[in-house]
Amino acid sequence: MIQVLFSAPDSQWDDYNQRLPEACRAKGLDIELTRDLTAHDVEFIVYAPNAQMRDFSPYRQCRAVLSLWAGVERIVVNQTLTQPLVRLIDPGLTQGMVEWVTGHVLRHHLGMDDHICRQDGIWSPVAPPLAAERRVTVLGLGALGAACAQALASLGFPVTGWSRTAKQLDGITCLSGLATLPTALASAEIVVLLLPLTPETTDLLDAALLATLPKGAVIINPGRGPLIEDDALLAALGSGHIGHATLDVFRTEPLPPDHPYWHHPRVTVTPHIASATRPATAVQAIAQSMSEVLSGVSPAGLVDRTRGY
Ligand code: NDP
Repeated sequence: MIQVLFSAPDSQWDDYNQRLPEACRAKGLDIELTRDLTAHDVEFIVYAPNAQMRDFSPYRQCRAVLSLWAGVERIVVNQTLTQPLVRLIDPGLTQGMVEWVTGHVLRHHLGMDDHICRQDGIWSPVAPPLAAERRVTVLGLGALGAACAQALASLGFPVTGWSRTAKQLDGITCLSGLATLPTALASAEIVVLLLPLTPETTDLLDAALLATLPKGAVIINPGRGPLIEDDALLAALGSGHIGHATLDVFRTEPLPPDHPYWHHPRVTVTPHIASATRPATAVQAIAQSMSEVLSGVSPAGLVDRTRGY
């Protein structure tokens, strides 16, 4: 029997306790799931970064910590974590992000606000352009960014993707490395941020890089708040250089009620809901990672602690 510690908010226990042992059994793994933090002989820890547990040092038998989140910036900095860390790559999480990003790109591309917010009796029949005439850039071509880039390309948008290392994705113009970022931004009428938060990506979109975007560009950020310098973004929105920002993630969450983003006419705030971990699919991903670790295979989501994601 494989001992597995579940360290996540209590509200998630019933769902995972019901589903995870079954998903593991389907892979030939017999697990006992526990919430007992004193069970130091556990072999895996299923972990949500908003759990109360912060000290991984007692768990010497632990083969891997399996994150319930894709973003691991809060865990990688934990000095007590010496066990391998696996971030979540889950089809449900990916599909949720594809739907959210596609929806918000289409909102801006089609100018939906003009009609949804202004039912003013004025008949002005201006048809929106086709997707082929709207250039979109996706920063980050990982599990989420690549799926979003491909979904947008399949709708006809000319998509440029940007990542740290070189990539080849069908139908996407792929650029890599910091030197190519101004090029990736220069043609982006809509830019989607799906980068992880690391020392290299913190404050990445500063005033200088925001200035490389075409006038009126739209920013959509479901990645992490600190990817963008807030003051620089507010200044660029104020000058009209940035046309709109749809922001799902923030330096401080919940976003304080007096934050200027809430009241800005050209900012849309969504409360970190771009995509959520869905237990039904997440348990499959976790069971798969456990199975890979136990058979000596490196799981797909293995975090490189030096690069921070
Ligand atoms: P991945 O680790 O799969 O992908 C990260 C991508 O970013 C990779 O393409 C990587 O490049 C690129 N990257 C990382 N550092 C740099 C850099 N310095 N310069 C250029 N490119 C870089 O992550 P996911 O796609 O799974 O998730 C992305 C982020 O989405 C998460 O870290 C999290 O912050 C956020 N997220 C937000 C959610 C929400 O609800 N708002 C939900 C889930 C996730 P390379 O491929 O070369 O390594």
